[in-house]
Amino acid sequence: MARYHIETYGCTSNRGESREIERRLRDAGHHRVDGPDEADVAIMNSCTVVEKTERNMLRRAEELADETADLIVTGCMALAQGEEFEDAGIDAEILHWDEVPEAVTNGECPTTTPGTEPVLDGVVGILPIARGCMSDCSYCITKQATGKIDSPPIEENVEKARALVHAGAKEIRITGQDTGVYGWDTGERKLHELLERICAIDGEFRVRVGMANPKGVHGIREELAAVFAENEKLYDFLHAPVQSGSNDVLGDMRRQHQVGEYLEVVETFDEALEYWTLSTDFIVGFPTESDADHEQSMALLRETRPEKLNVTRFSKRPGTDAAEMKGLGGTIKKERSREMSELKMEIVGEAYEAMVGETREDVLVVEEGTGDSVKCRDSAYRQIIVRDADEYDLEPGDFVDLEVTGHNTVYAFGRPL
Ligand code: SF4
Repeated sequence: MARYHIETYGCTSNRGESREIERRLRDAGHHRVDGPDEADVAIMNSCTVVEKTERNMLRRAEELADETADLIVTGCMALAQGEEFEDAGIDAEILHWDEVPEAVTNGECPTTTPGTEPVLDGVVGILPIARGCMSDCSYCITKQATGKIDSPPIEENVEKARALVHAGAKEIRITGQDTGVYGWDTGERKLHELLERICAIDGEFRVRVGMANPKGVHGIREELAAVFAENEKLYDFLHAPVQSGSNDVLGDMRRQHQVGEYLEVVETFDEALEYWTLSTDFIVGFPTESDADHEQSMALLRETRPEKLNVTRFSKRPGTDAAEMKGLGGTIKKERSREMSELKMEIVGEAYEAMVGETREDVLVVEEGTGDSVKCRDSAYRQIIVRDADEYDLEPGDFVDLEVTGHNTVYAFGRPL
């Protein structure tokens, strides 16, 4: 869990995006603090209208970079003139606003609130299926708050899901620190069984499975891939954070999986599903990561080509074992992060480009976007934005057939058929 500071400049659109960033950070258990000097990470949502604004943005970014361990810059100036921050020697990660919440997590799993009660937010039902995990990652501070996995019985989670559907949920997000180890505390590996039971609930809705570490998924990969293939209600989307392409670094991180296990998971899903989204995370610049280790991460990225990817520059969290290790220099971390982010843009951009001209059936309108747009998700949980939603009379909860008309690197654009 990180302490963050956020500053927003410019128009109402930027303010809306910052609100969404904050909502997601809050949901993931991060805390806002009063100033950059108290924060692990500072977020600057920038604006660029006139030259004077740009100079102000650069000056403020410089101050924030000095006052905080990590700086993320998003917003118009970051996207249009991101190189100016680098030219000015400011050590900042330049990200689209949609990518900011994941970058803040520093590779840790999301925090599930105690009591694991579901929440309905619009047409999205958040269902924490368990609390805690089976790991002890050396860089993780979340674990200190959440402890070992504690899984309620399947029946209890199914009843919560049913209540969400009856209350109007059209998308159920299955969450937890590590959904892949659901049931391990009772000696059973049963995420697949739970998903099957939830999909059997009457009603038209979709189910998204949240973060599942490769180790847990590996043990049930065949069963899980079969459940995905058989149930249309399940988004064909798997978030399995590998974190490194080097087994040595994974060992130092105390991740429980090896690269080979992650590859077997991807292979199994590739065989079972024609169109799906692999989502994964990499931490770059872990203290023991050598140049060769970094190259292995880059090679793994090229080999598996995930359609969604979070790249996080390692930063120390107080009280963790990794915080005691001698760290790499900022320049090395920055360079590796830039290299991996460029490859990410290429890979993810290609995935969205391949969608252009295709049609998608029964796409769920999940929430309102900025202006008159809505955000939708197709069967593989790819995000498709429809502009002029009023004209098409679209609102959250609707299912719609779309033609994909364009894309950027984080989502596609679509038009109702
Ligand atoms: S799996 Fe690792 S990163 Fe995730 S909560 Fe557990 S110890 Fe932390």
